[in-house]
Amino acid sequence: MKFGTKAIHAGVEPDPSTGAIMTPIYQTSTYVQRSPGDHLGYEYSRTHNPTRTALQNSLAALENGKHGICFSSGLASVDAILKLFSPGDEIISTNDLYGGTYRLFTKVFEKYGLKFHFVPMADTQSVEEKINENTKLIWTETPTNPMMNIVDLKALGEVAKKHQILFGVDNTFASPYIQTPLDLGADIVMHSVTKYLGGHSDVVMGALVVNDDELAQRLAFIQNACGATPGPQDCFLVLRGIKTLHIRMERHCQNGKTIAAYLKNHPKVAKVYWPGFEDHPNHAIAKKQMKDYGGMISFTLVNNQLEDAKKVMEGFKLFSLAESLGGVESLCGHPASMTHASIPKEEREKVGLVDSLIRLSVGIEDAEDLKNDLAEALAQLGSD
Ligand SMILES: *Cc1c(COP(=O)(O)O)cnc(C)c1O
Repeated sequence: MKFGTKAIHAGVEPDPSTGAIMTPIYQTSTYVQRSPGDHLGYEYSRTHNPTRTALQNSLAALENGKHGICFSSGLASVDAILKLFSPGDEIISTNDLYGGTYRLFTKVFEKYGLKFHFVPMADTQSVEEKINENTKLIWTETPTNPMMNIVDLKALGEVAKKHQILFGVDNTFASPYIQTPLDLGADIVMHSVTKYLGGHSDVVMGALVVNDDELAQRLAFIQNACGATPGPQDCFLVLRGIKTLHIRMERHCQNGKTIAAYLKNHPKVAKVYWPGFEDHPNHAIAKKQMKDYGGMISFTLVNNQLEDAKKVMEGFKLFSLAESLGGVESLCGHPASMTHASIPKEEREKVGLVDSLIRLSVGIEDAEDLKNDLAEALAQLGSD
């Protein structure tokens, strides 16, 4: 089955009791048993819920995986992965990681004895240098947030395999429409379902997809034992969102391309970070592993003034200033003070995350209107 057909059909069966074509919201905590242990596969909704099962199967199909496991947020899904490990285990991750994941690693799990190394992951060699007998996981994002660096998933997958280390990829920014890391050697794909998969800025959720049966079982054990599971209503909303994932992504990518090109030629813009540019340092890898380049764009302003960045963001009429991304509506964010505020300034600036950096999540509105919004907001900076 091709992607668009999977988005609409995978994992979803007509409801066995009524024939309802849409998976019902099974708003129930428990299920009646005929006799102790004699049930229909559902006992308690932390463990299993039919609406969640449909969503988990749909997500697995979209990522070309066997097992989907949903959590109450993207970070809860990363938390579940970390609970696979024991004190003394080491994890190698990218140095421009999503701020919330960085915080979870360093502020929560370091004190339980896990050790984290942060390296520039676009350079595969830098990963190999940190590997030792305690290394248990390589963790990356691509494109990275917010610098839009591209990590070579196939090359990293080979490194992980050679050393028998788990390889996990946060695929939130790309979505499975753009890339499917399991096909490139990843063992675990993670999503903040909150973003493109949900797609309508109305749900917070996370998911993992894996192929290995034993790994799936261990993660499902943690899902049930720790209990950070999503409710059925949220699962329904995401199932509904997924039905238009391919159409939405097509437009996000198209608008992303238009807006990136517009910004690149704007006299008030210093630098534009978007993997679709031929002069992006890892464009060749992006071209190889991504079907398209997405709607996430970061840019900096000439003179790099925080005040100018604020003025631009306050001046937008369509790009709403808000955390998050991947919804149908365009958003803008200021990583230095919002998503990445928990990363020390020197660390941030080392990777180019300067004070005037603005991140856009380009929505699926008409591109002309988005361009006009940018034009008007940037015009406030005057000419000097
Ligand atoms: C939002 C986000 C997360 C965290 O997901 P939540 O659903 O907010 O918990 C993790 N990784 C990336 C890349 C994200 O954008």
